[in-house]
Amino acid sequence: MDWSNKYFLHIYKSRLYDLMNVDSSTNTVNIHHWYREWFKIVQDCFQAQDIVYYQWMGEEYRIVHVSTNHNVSYSMSSQSADALFHYHSLSYNSEIGKDTFAYDIGFKLMKKNSTPLGILFVQGSQISMSQLFESDLLDFALESEQFLKKMNYFYKIVEDEQRYRELYKVTEIFHSTMDIDLLLKQVITTLYRVFPDYSFNLLLSNDHHKHEGLPIKGFEYDTADLAAMQSFVNGTIEIADSTHVEHATLYAPLKGKQGVYGVLEVCSTHSFSYPEYEVEFIRLLAYTAGSALENAKLYQQSKSLITDLQLINEISHKLNSDLRMSETLSYLKVQIDRSFQASAVAFIMINQGEEQVLNESSSFFFSENGNQYIRFVKDRIVNENESLFIGDISTKLEGQIPYFSLMAVPMVQKNLIKGFCIVLQEKPYSFSFDMYKLLQSFIHHSTLALTNSMLREKLEKMVITDHLTSLYARRYLDDEMKKSMKRDDRGSYILMDLDNFKEINDRYGHQVGDEVLIQTARVIQRTVEGKGLPARWGGEEIAVYFPNYSAAESKVIADEIVKRIPKETSPSITVSCGISSWEDHNDINVKSLIRRADSALYVAKNKGRNQVVMQHVETSIK
Ligand code: GH3
Ligand code: MG
Ligand code: MG
Repeated sequence: MDWSNKYFLHIYKSRLYDLMNVDSSTNTVNIHHWYREWFKIVQDCFQAQDIVYYQWMGEEYRIVHVSTNHNVSYSMSSQSADALFHYHSLSYNSEIGKDTFAYDIGFKLMKKNSTPLGILFVQGSQISMSQLFESDLLDFALESEQFLKKMNYFYKIVEDEQRYRELYKVTEIFHSTMDIDLLLKQVITTLYRVFPDYSFNLLLSNDHHKHEGLPIKGFEYDTADLAAMQSFVNGTIEIADSTHVEHATLYAPLKGKQGVYGVLEVCSTHSFSYPEYEVEFIRLLAYTAGSALENAKLYQQSKSLITDLQLINEISHKLNSDLRMSETLSYLKVQIDRSFQASAVAFIMINQGEEQVLNESSSFFFSENGNQYIRFVKDRIVNENESLFIGDISTKLEGQIPYFSLMAVPMVQKNLIKGFCIVLQEKPYSFSFDMYKLLQSFIHHSTLALTNSMLREKLEKMVITDHLTSLYARRYLDDEMKKSMKRDDRGSYILMDLDNFKEINDRYGHQVGDEVLIQTARVIQRTVEGKGLPARWGGEEIAVYFPNYSAAESKVIADEIVKRIPKETSPSITVSCGISSWEDHNDINVKSLIRRADSALYVAKNKGRNQVVMQHVETSIK
């Protein structure tokens, strides 16, 4: 017996041992490399010319290695295998393949529970088969089976390890970046690296971003696959019923801590089910992607929340800095234009049920079409006391409308609706819900400032206005005359007194007297409008100051007043006027101006009333 025959099994065992030891110490394990080495060892041990190995793939045997030029077939059914082996694990001197590959010996390798592992064929062995005991061959088969089992097991561990290393890499990136695209890309490339035969898509809900180079599909609730839908709603892994479909599709939820942000769609090219470890791996990656999406979303939200808060803070500051009403509104309008890219903005105040469009509103709201929007909003806001957020208002309004998106927020103070603000945009669905919330904040924070400045302006007006005649109060005119004397080159003053007013009172009563006084005030107001400042000077005395008017110029107006009053009062009354003026900056003061007019008036009364008297003609100056 040749020594090699005797030691053939020893050599085989020790070389397998070496192979296992060398390779388990390195990480770059590749199953093909192991097979190649194993085939080399088998070939060496048998001193064989060729070997062929088929691996059991669950349904049939498929070829893994072939060292011959013979055209051996790619696969072998379990029936053909059984025919060769006759329920025995060894087969001698037979043929396989179309082109007939004649082998010396074939081994059917099995697992312990007699599920097949593979079939090994050896051809042209230099060792004479008759010199080998069958027990040696059975031992060889046993060693080979053990080796393959170990190799597969070890390979699976290493493969798992590699997969989890990939997962770790993704997780690392996840913790180091806020760049959502970069992370999703990493998730996808990892999936492709680990499962090169599958294809992947991200079905994202509610995603308005453009992700360049990512396989992203919009997730449409009404058209989505049922399994995709279930995965999204239940946050579970779902596999589409593949009875009619060639390719099994798996859906893994992109789940974060607070919700599901989409679904990862996995398409395989085969229809058998996904192994458990693959599903687990995909589940983990999908979870990572989901958390990343959630993080990015929260980050984005907190960022815009901070910007919003800063803006609101800024607005509150500005509004509390005692602005005039019109300044407050103009400022608010700029902020609204900027924050919402608004096309038209209106501020409407409601006074005793009547709406008043404030001047700072866009010009559109002063048109009939604009009025339609105002009426619609007012109805809804007054009746429902709620803000409006409408993506497409076209069905609710009539005719051609220029703006489709609408937001409207009431200004509420102490549970009373003081007014409202309308923001419009041409295109439908232009405003996001966040914008709507921000507008509510804006209005909420500015209502108090707005109503305060309105109230203040009203009070200011009240202080400088005489409440019966709506003419200025005497104090106001006094101040204006002082200012004019500093500012202007000249000025003129008319003092008027109703003639025999006591008689009107006596005859018609005080109320009619009041009426006549109001009528007189209206005539004077209209006549001097844009020229002089009319004020109620005393009981039935009215004064008008004309900045930059000479005595002669104001006399023309006084004459007109005297002429108009008896015609435009009922019961008819007349007035007497005294005129004074100043031109010289030296030696002038309000007191002297009034005194001179008063003297002139006195003269007018004495001369028979219903006339105008100039200071310099009839009275001594100063
Ligand atoms: P004369 O032409 O000299 O000015 O005669 P007169 O009657 O107008 O003058 P007199 O000073 O005697 O009377 C002024 C009257 O004007 C007395 C007062 O009751 C009345 N009067 C003053 N203020 C008001 C007012 O606000 N309403 C009413 N109804 N009467 C007023
Ligand atoms: Mg009087
Ligand atoms: Mg009088």
